[in-house]
Amino acid sequence: MSIDLPETTTTLVNEAIETASSLGMLMYTTNQQLGHAPFSLWPSEYPQPAYQQAYALASSFNQLMTAIVADTAFINEVVAQIASADSFTAKLYQIYTHCQEREPKQTLSLALVRSDYMLQTHTDKSHALRQIEINTISSAFAALSSRVTDLHRYLLKSHTSSQIDNLPVNLAEQGLVDSLASAWQYFADPQALILFIIQPHEKNSIDQRLLQYQLWARHGIKVARCSLTDLHRHVKLNQPTGDLSYGSNADKIAVVYFRAGYTPTDYPGDTEWQARKTIEQSSAIKCPNIAWQLAGTKKMQQRLTEPGVVEQFIADEKQAQSIRSCFASLHSLSEADIRKAAQSAPQDFVLKPQREGGGNNLYGKEMAQTLAAMTSSEFNAWILMERIYAPQTNNILVQNKQFTQQPVAVVSELGIYAACLSRGKELLENRALGHILRTKPASAEEGGVATGVAVLDSPCMVSTVL
Ligand code: ADP
Ligand code: MG
Repeated sequence: MSIDLPETTTTLVNEAIETASSLGMLMYTTNQQLGHAPFSLWPSEYPQPAYQQAYALASSFNQLMTAIVADTAFINEVVAQIASADSFTAKLYQIYTHCQEREPKQTLSLALVRSDYMLQTHTDKSHALRQIEINTISSAFAALSSRVTDLHRYLLKSHTSSQIDNLPVNLAEQGLVDSLASAWQYFADPQALILFIIQPHEKNSIDQRLLQYQLWARHGIKVARCSLTDLHRHVKLNQPTGDLSYGSNADKIAVVYFRAGYTPTDYPGDTEWQARKTIEQSSAIKCPNIAWQLAGTKKMQQRLTEPGVVEQFIADEKQAQSIRSCFASLHSLSEADIRKAAQSAPQDFVLKPQREGGGNNLYGKEMAQTLAAMTSSEFNAWILMERIYAPQTNNILVQNKQFTQQPVAVVSELGIYAACLSRGKELLENRALGHILRTKPASAEEGGVATGVAVLDSPCMVSTVL
């Protein structure tokens, strides 16, 4: 990197770990200890045009997704296909159709999305922004990634002569908090609270607690937390009105914010599915509702790349084109020639199931073997995606107090957080909020901070090709 870096000493890394911890960059480790969240010692260079392109796309994706969510026929068409091959999506879809058949108790919905991108490197070393996926439920790490920007600004200023002006400010945490507060205000009950739906043994709870604290500090809003398993113990649904109330005080719930519910393990049994249905039927503003969750499936992402589909929802040709410009090539498994291509050149593809949360994709030999063994009834549960090879930079990764003395080759994935408050087709709020940069060793296939592979990083703007 162009920053003139000092030697990596234990003293320097210790200062970084303590500063990160004092900023609230904390996570639980596998043995239930609270420790520092993994981070890169320095920011990573990132081309400014690509960063700006990703940022500018956020509002167009919000418009696109809002139009999809409002189009019941399209959701039905795509999701019925997935549901035929994937029992988890089928369960979500059952709740969706149940609620579609009834008068809704709440017409507003909030989505706090994160669109993730990698740069595809071409042979002439140029690169192109490619969307990896759009997360429409439980987009994590907004608070911790806002704070890694603060950490890097501090370290650069105290230990190098580099300018910090090319580290863009990151207001993701504040943006998420203010968007939740804004939805809460629409509910118009000053006594009502926001309910966070959480996983029982969440490692990333500090990222949530920071939002919870800021909701109180900036807006005076109370938050309650509960898993899907425990919901029936604390939350009551008033059948005629659809109001949800919490605890012995029966405080009304204005907004339900999901930081769980995106993966089958969040639903060990009927209790959890019943809890999800209770919430979906209620008058609380869901962040997100099931329609938004379904609109964020990988199959939906693949369908959008087919000719004319984006244009069905985005009338402005130029805008539709700008959305398409970040699409990687994505394929349905029903295309026999693509299945064949992926088996003969596995390095060019990634096989993805309809799952969220990391660690589910298949690469290389394992992908080829899975494809060879797959029956046609399973095709709709998967998509094939062009594999992205991002440009490599160098950085020092600090994980669980361990670090390498010398920088290692790394690749980065940029995420842009955005808020979308809508009522049917009407967009009431549409804002890009901030960013996350997740960096992993160049040799790692799958990313993910929660899965222990990637670290939190921040982008240092450069104008040139990396
Ligand atoms: P999930 O919903 O489980 O997070 P993602 O689609 O985000 O699934 O993939 C998880 C990770 O796998 C990404 O963060 C990225 O590191 C890697 N990955 C996903 N798609 C590709 C791709 N097309 N090329 C290269 N790496 C990819
Ligand atoms: Mg992801």
